Amino acid sequence: MIRFRTPLTLASASLAAGLLLSSCETKPATTSENPTAAAVPADSAATAAPAAPVDATTKAPSPGEIPAAQRADAAAILARPQVPILCYHQIRDWRAKDSKGAKDYIVPVAQFKAQMKMLADSGYHTILPDQLYAYLTTGAKLPSKPIMLTFDDTDLDQFTVAKPTLDKYGYKAVYFIMTVSLGRPNYMSKAQVKQLSDEGNIIGSHTWDHHNVKKYEGQDWVTQIEKPTKTLEEITGKKINYFAYPFGLWRPESIPELKKRGMDAAFILAEKRDQQDPLYTIRRIIASGYWSPRTLHNSIVQSF
Ligand SMILES: [Zn+2]
Repeated sequence: MIRFRTPLTLASASLAAGLLLSSCETKPATTSENPTAAAVPADSAATAAPAAPVDATTKAPSPGEIPAAQRADAAAILARPQVPILCYHQIRDWRAKDSKGAKDYIVPVAQFKAQMKMLADSGYHTILPDQLYAYLTTGAKLPSKPIMLTFDDTDLDQFTVAKPTLDKYGYKAVYFIMTVSLGRPNYMSKAQVKQLSDEGNIIGSHTWDHHNVKKYEGQDWVTQIEKPTKTLEEITGKKINYFAYPFGLWRPESIPELKKRGMDAAFILAEKRDQQDPLYTIRRIIASGYWSPRTLHNSIVQSF
């Protein structure tokens, strides 16, 4: 069955084609496929036990609790080592009709489990955006080997397939929700999003229907940013502080619009960060469905 990824009433031919290809974003960062390029510290069962789950719940101040005068300037933020951030979309086994390109955005279930096991065996601890914000702006301490896991586009398998695996390792994640899809077949329901939030994950905004931020004008900021954020705040009962750009695409004009609407940070993909506003261009890499645990590890080391 074809999964339409945008409301039919709004789908321009090109947008629909892009979304059917699979969801989001530009090509994943090029990464060496050479298995000898970097050592994976823990492929084998003989190595470390899974990371202790405690760090995922480490309390960090929310951005609003950090006085502006205490926040580092852009240069200082850019100078800090980046925390690796992974971006996932669909977590499901490949189907015959999945295109070569789509498979970058579709991580087969066993592959996903193997990727998470590698992270846990390697001692990675998941962190959440408030921790990242406090680290970037004040130098707050992070757990050892910090990593952030993010899931875009509201796909149901993120709840039914990915979450149980994350739970096994005590991992928490960020879910960037495209609100138009809530409750549709193969997408998460409002109750599932609420459950993710209640369980300590962070819900972020990913627009109403995934239109490209570079093209917004006038009322689009309200339709795509303001209203969906309010919807997510009603669902979770919490303030929404974080945004992910559809397709990872942004422009300088988007930053004041996001600030006006309560966003404290925004996430792009693997491109360069903005020199003036690095908090609104935090980098992520797409964890490809083609990547073995070893390749993922190489990508994490090389991309951040
Ligand atoms: Zn997306």
